[in-house]
Amino acid sequence: MSYSFGTSASRGVVSKLLSAGYEAVFVGGAVRDLLLGKEASDIDIATSATPKEVKEVFPNTVDVGIQHGTVLVLFEGEPIEVTTYRTEGTYSDHRRPDEVTFVRSLEEDLKRRDFTMNAMALSLDGRLIDPFGGKQDIDKRLIRAVGAAEERFKEDALRMFRAIRFSSVLGFAIEDSTCDAIELLAKEIEHIAAERLKAEWDKLFLGKEPTRAFEYIHDTGIGAHLPAYPETFRAASCLHGPFQTSLEGWATLMMTGDLEPLQLTRAYKMSNTEKTFLRSIQEVLQTREAQFYSNLDYYRWGEQVLLAAEAIYQCLHPDKPFLGPNEIREKIAALPIRSKQELAVTGTDLLAWSKAKGGRWVGEWLDTIERAVILGDCRNDSEEIKGWFLHEFTRQR
Ligand code: ATP
Ligand code: MG
Repeated sequence: MSYSFGTSASRGVVSKLLSAGYEAVFVGGAVRDLLLGKEASDIDIATSATPKEVKEVFPNTVDVGIQHGTVLVLFEGEPIEVTTYRTEGTYSDHRRPDEVTFVRSLEEDLKRRDFTMNAMALSLDGRLIDPFGGKQDIDKRLIRAVGAAEERFKEDALRMFRAIRFSSVLGFAIEDSTCDAIELLAKEIEHIAAERLKAEWDKLFLGKEPTRAFEYIHDTGIGAHLPAYPETFRAASCLHGPFQTSLEGWATLMMTGDLEPLQLTRAYKMSNTEKTFLRSIQEVLQTREAQFYSNLDYYRWGEQVLLAAEAIYQCLHPDKPFLGPNEIREKIAALPIRSKQELAVTGTDLLAWSKAKGGRWVGEWLDTIERAVILGDCRNDSEEIKGWFLHEFTRQR
């Protein structure tokens, strides 16, 4: 069987390297995704040419990770990553190789990769190079370490969590001896930097079977060694996903695992956007315990937060009535305004109508008017707001 593969630019890059006398093939996740019939996210090329030689073949290149052998080639306007065949020296601290060594053999390069399904290559003419039975494992829907799992996880403990994230993304099982090795070496995950774990978590949440991953986290005992992982946490039924965003997954983990936003945001060095989102979810759900949302809640939180919060609420209280996504969207669409900029009046209007001197009160009254409009006490119409404002303003002075 032969496969057709790659964008015109990526095929062009491989073809040029071949013409220059080097070996070049497609490798990694994109080859796996091709066999799975999935759209590949990014196409990686491996070559026998050293980074220096790659740069001699192509006029436009960027040194993105030259110490690891990766050169970014700009070809037909597309950025294409080209990595020299390499092995990864020794590993003294369970996380990164002490040195990378460039090699001239593709098989050496494939051997250092994590799982059989990720250790295949495809030639330009569509021939699959699969020394470790990756295709067969894909057909069996199995995640299997290349070589002896224990050794491979001792070299780089992140691989254990990658196996678990792939179980969610692909809905595959982890092969028994690979899974046993995770159980045995679970503690080693503590050597891995939070950023690298977070990147895998983000993909795990976007996968089609997060529950499967949570089962593995539980069964292998690796949860006890993951940062801020809820103690004695067993996958809640709502962690089945699929989540719309990875943040929704994080929020669900937080609420079902009884975590504080800060525990997660600190442990995983999250961005401000992520922090704000998790805090919002916690606050919304506190409100939600007492009552359904008010118009002010719809206005303040908006669609992304409320959709996620309501899905989590439903999971926490499966027997209570909940709002469907369409109901939430309709409520938001029906709000008289979406932001303060949409108010039919400005501070200048308030000054003119009141004939009072400017000051802090102007902003405060704009807030009051905003609230009155959202609650329906007053329509968002300049004349109507004027009448309402003058009445309230003089009454309070
Ligand atoms: P995705 O589609 O999610 O990007 P991927 O398989 O492409 O999945 P990447 O993290 O982009 O995953 O890595 C690209 C390739 O590099 C993998 O397919 C694998 O061959 C190799 N690889 C990545 N991380 C490791 C690791 N920690 N140990 C060994 N090989 C790895
Ligand atoms: Mg990739």
